[in-house]
Amino acid sequence: MAARPQKKLFSRKKVCRFCADNEMSINYKDVKTLRNYVSERGKIIPRRILGTCATHQRQLCEAIKQARHIALLPYSGSSQG
Ligand SMILES: [Zn+2]
Repeated sequence: MAARPQKKLFSRKKVCRFCADNEMSINYKDVKTLRNYVSERGKIIPRRILGTCATHQRQLCEAIKQARHIALLPYSGSSQG
C-alpha cells in the first residue's frame, strides 16, 4: 500500500501571469507591463506563447490598443486601421 507512483507532477506548465498574481493588474498606462506582451514591432504576442488566459489576453489587447491610441506604444506595422 506504500507504493507511490513517481510521477512528475510539476511539469513546466505555462500559467497566466495575471491569474497567478492577483496584485498584477492590466492598465493601459502601465506600459512597462504591456511591453512584455508586445513584440519589438509593437505586435501583440499570441497567448499560446505567453500562456495568458483568454480573459486576460482580451484585457491586455484592449489595454494595448488604448496605449497605442495615446502613443504609449507603437502601432504594429500592419496596414490595419
Ligand atoms: Zn488570466
